[in-house]
Amino acid sequence: MARTADDTWGVGESVGATALGAAEWRARENVRPDRLFTDPYAQVFLDAVAVRGIPNSEFSEELMARLQETDPHVVRGVRAQQDYVASRTRWFDDFFSAATAAGIRQAVILAAGLDARAWRLQWLADAVVYEIDQPKVLEFKDETLRAHGAEPAVRRVSLPIDLRTDWPKALCEAGFDPALPTAWSMEGLLAYLPASAQELLLDRLHALSAPGSRIAVDALNAAFFRPENLTRLGSFFTEIRDVMIRNGGDLPDTPNLFFDEKRRELADWLREHGWRADELEVHDMMARYRRRAPIEDDAGVPHCVMVEGRLPR
Ligand code: SAM
Repeated sequence: MARTADDTWGVGESVGATALGAAEWRARENVRPDRLFTDPYAQVFLDAVAVRGIPNSEFSEELMARLQETDPHVVRGVRAQQDYVASRTRWFDDFFSAATAAGIRQAVILAAGLDARAWRLQWLADAVVYEIDQPKVLEFKDETLRAHGAEPAVRRVSLPIDLRTDWPKALCEAGFDPALPTAWSMEGLLAYLPASAQELLLDRLHALSAPGSRIAVDALNAAFFRPENLTRLGSFFTEIRDVMIRNGGDLPDTPNLFFDEKRRELADWLREHGWRADELEVHDMMARYRRRAPIEDDAGVPHCVMVEGRLPR
C-alpha cells in the first residue's frame, strides 16, 4: 500500500514490519559465537509476534539450508544484510557507550523500534533514555518486555508519537531538558521519512541540542540515491519477498515504504549548523567489525554513510 502523510502502523504492518526485520537479524546475531553484541530481547519479540499471530516471516536456518540448494545467491545476500544490521547495531552501541563515558546523561532514540539498548547497555546511574516511535510499535514493545519481566537498565521513557508531528513538545512535556547535552540516534529511520520531514526533524532536533550534544545517524547520501543503488536494493528486496512468498511466508514491500527523495548530505547540514561531523562509509563500517561482504554479495547492504556529529561544549 502506498505511503501517506499521516499513515500509522503496528509491528508487522507497513513500516512497522521493518522493526521486526531488524529484531530478526539481531536475534540471529545473538546466537553467533562471534556476536558483535548481546541482545536476548530480540528473540523475545519474535516469540511474542508468533504468539499474537502477527505475520513475521523469518529466514530461519532451515529455510536458508533449503535456499542454499535452489537460490544460493539469495542466501549470500540475506547473510550480507544480517551482517549490515549487526554491524550497524554495534556502531550505534559504541556511540552510546562513548557518550556515556563522556558523561552524557540524556539520550533520545528516534524511531527506536524494537531496539533494546535501554535494557542491555550500561548507562550512568541518573541517566534517562527517551524512546520515540509509532504508538502501536511502542505498545507492543512495552507490553512484551513487561510480560517477560525485563527491567530497563536506566530510567526509560516511552514516547508514542509520529516523528512527522510536534514530537519536541511531547518530549519536553515528558521531562526532556534542552539545557543538558543529549545523545541522539536515528537508526534505520531516514528512508521512511519524506525529505521535507527529515529537514524539519533536524531543525527541531538542533533547536533542542545543548552544547556538548552528539548525534549518530545512518544517513542517506548521494551514493544511496544513485539509480543503480536504488535498482540494486529494489531488486534484492523484491527477490527475497518473492522467495519468502514461495515458501509460505510474506515480507513487506520495502522499496514501496521508502521515500526515495533526494536530500541534503547530513554531514554538510550538521557542519553548517555548527556541529563537527565524521563520516564512515557503510562498507568501512562493516569492515571495522570484520563483516564486510564481498561486493558481489552485498545486494542487501544499502549504500549509505554513518554520520556522527558533535556540538562543541
Ligand atoms: N531503530 C530501530 C532499529 O534499528 O532496530 C528500528 C528501525 S526500523 C527499520 C524503522 C523504525 O522507524 C520503525 O520502528 C518505525 O516504526 C519507525 N518510524 C518510521 N517512520 C516513523 C515516524 N514517522 N514516526 C515514528 N516512527 C517512525
